[in-house]
Amino acid sequence: MYDVIIIGAGPAGTVAGYLLGRAGLSVLLLDRKDFPRKKACAGGITPKAMALFPFDISCLIRRTCREVKIIRPGNASFTVKAKAPLCYITKRMDLDAYSLEKAVQAGCRFRKIGRIIRLDQDDCGVNLTLSSDGKTDILRAGYLIGADGANSKIRRLIGGQKSRIIKLPALEADVPVKNAGLHPMTFDFSRDIQGYYWIFPRKTHVNIGIFSAMPNGTMNRDLLKNYAEDRLKTDILSDVKGYPIATSYGKVHLGTGRVLLAGDAAGLAEPLLGEGIYSALKSGILSARAIEHTVGRKLFTPSDALGFYRQALGALQLDLRLYRCCASILYQFPKWSLALGSCNILHNCFSRGYSTGKTLHEILMPF
Ligand SMILES: Cc1cc2nc3c(=O)[nH]c(=O)nc-3n(C[C@H](O)[C@H](O)[C@H](O)COP(=O)(O)OP(=O)(O)OC[C@H]3O[C@@H](n4cnc5c(N)ncnc54)[C@H](O)[C@@H]3O)c2cc1C
Repeated sequence: MYDVIIIGAGPAGTVAGYLLGRAGLSVLLLDRKDFPRKKACAGGITPKAMALFPFDISCLIRRTCREVKIIRPGNASFTVKAKAPLCYITKRMDLDAYSLEKAVQAGCRFRKIGRIIRLDQDDCGVNLTLSSDGKTDILRAGYLIGADGANSKIRRLIGGQKSRIIKLPALEADVPVKNAGLHPMTFDFSRDIQGYYWIFPRKTHVNIGIFSAMPNGTMNRDLLKNYAEDRLKTDILSDVKGYPIATSYGKVHLGTGRVLLAGDAAGLAEPLLGEGIYSALKSGILSARAIEHTVGRKLFTPSDALGFYRQALGALQLDLRLYRCCASILYQFPKWSLALGSCNILHNCFSRGYSTGKTLHEILMPF
């Protein structure tokens, strides 16, 4: 019997595993993949996300961006600048493998698994039934953290489908270009897609992608290819990968009983630009703290962990509501919102806030 089983070794799962392992709890982290593994993600880490890592990840930073170019409908553009970094670019494959290594060093055990088939809870713990090569295996723990991403099986097993999870599609590719490092980090809203294209510079290539703010947004390789031809004068794409980003409208489902959901499994990514690593880290940390606080304390009942977790995530949920408002304004009225956004006073205020690691409600507080 483990104190905690964590499903999913993305940012939410590895940070929770690291903290719980370091706290001396017996922790088993499970993933269906071996690491390092490829992951659809542009690897952009904002300063507020960077500040959450409980270990140093500076060796993984491939570019530090202090400028962001925004292209408006009609192709006019403006540049948001800050003295401090606005975003750090990493490669997700390296970031997740490194974070997993840190979790294991902190005392967390890791295992690759086959299929999850059942999840049962009783007064004293959680039983997880797995199937691999025709064999079934039952693992038992006091608590379980579901950090298994946007298509979470754990969310489905605890009936979380009833919550209003919205999956927003995103697709990315690497494009080899000369002087990749000279390309500014770009968010391009010039096309009529209710979303945006991005260009993130790396050392030998740029990473390009499309994010749709609509769950049924059109997304395919040809759109990316046309975009690369148009903006980068090449149609050579490699490593094309897509995956949904899970956010939610209305009440977020954070778990049931002894099962807590974190990151995209709970639909905590923000719906404006699709940033999900910050929420994954934040919820991974807070779920770990809630469990650590409850384990072995007779004063608390098991459901107190979920209660502590819900309470601690209040600020993040407020931020998500603000992002939802901003997204509905931006994608309904892109021309007017970005014309307003190009105004120096406004974007300087946002860039100052972002570069100093503030959350959206902290930036908006003075207004
Ligand atoms: C194309 C694209 C670009 C993006 N770019 C950015 C960006 O630049 N910055 C940013 O902040 N966010 C970005 N995001 C969003 C970000 O990737 C996610 O929000 C983030 O990865 C969520 O972290 P997580 O830990 O909750 O889940 P994930 O990172 O999705 O990790 C889930 C883990 O669970 C495992 N798993 C899944 N199902 C099972 C199962 N049944 N059994 C066992 N293991 C399982 C998976 O193998 C995976 O390792 C992007 C997303 C996409 C699709």
